[in-house]
Amino acid sequence: MSELVVTGLRASVNGKEILRGVDLRVASGEVHAVMGPNGSGKSTLSHVIAGRPGYDVTGGTVYLDGADLLAMPAWERARAGLFLALQYPIEVPGVTLVDALGEAFRASGRNPADVPALLATEAREVGLDESFLSRPLNVDLSGGERKRNEVLQLGVLRPSIAVLDEIDSGLDIDALRAVARRVAELARGSGIGVLAITHYYRLLSELPVDQVHVLSAGRVVATGGPELALELEESGYVAYGDEEAGDGHDGGRAPSSPRVI
Ligand code: ADP
Ligand code: MG
Repeated sequence: MSELVVTGLRASVNGKEILRGVDLRVASGEVHAVMGPNGSGKSTLSHVIAGRPGYDVTGGTVYLDGADLLAMPAWERARAGLFLALQYPIEVPGVTLVDALGEAFRASGRNPADVPALLATEAREVGLDESFLSRPLNVDLSGGERKRNEVLQLGVLRPSIAVLDEIDSGLDIDALRAVARRVAELARGSGIGVLAITHYYRLLSELPVDQVHVLSAGRVVATGGPELALELEESGYVAYGDEEAGDGHDGGRAPSSPRVI
């Protein structure tokens, strides 16, 4: 049983305060969504939890099973059981998935010789062709393939807690279903705690969640069950203090879905 506990987290970039006191708790096997308009601090939250350089943490704590993540460099946080899927996965020329995950296995005392077979299994699970496994990481992959690739890595690494930043962006409906189904299986079946960041309801129509948190201007301003996501789908973020109302760079709000989760 693992638990990620974020308390009163505050962080700035270049002197501008982005996170203004975030409280969250995610336990093994739970799926939490963080929703919020563009610029509300969702990616910043994921980066600060994972230890990406460039942020000044000005207050609060982040603990994973009692370990003080804020005191560790990013690689140690990963070894402690944290996984981050980036909103914009980066290209790493010259490094294949087998190389990268083999190093991760070695660093955590697992046998890197197990990686190729696990990768082949996970590639099938998310519908990625096995030819991707020997290509340089994310190089020349489409947006959707990169997202499947992130979930494939999640399935191989099996962290205790996974932060997935906009894992749904750029996916067509079939890819969205494949990704959401695999994330749900990994949470419910393998006990991974998931913090799924998104600003669209459509992910949650495919991925059942336990709780929804609304982030606005760097604060969690509402927490509720899945019905909160549906409410946001209908009314936008205006009620939560956002004047842009989700009218963001990736095309505005998702089409409404008839499914109630
Ligand atoms: P979201 O993921 O919710 O769309 P972000 O966390 O990416 O929001 O960004 C929150 C705010 O922080 C935005 O106003 C953004 O411009 C600002 N910001 C993020 N990173 C930087 C940076 N490196 N330098 C300056 N401002 C930044
Ligand atoms: Mg973002």
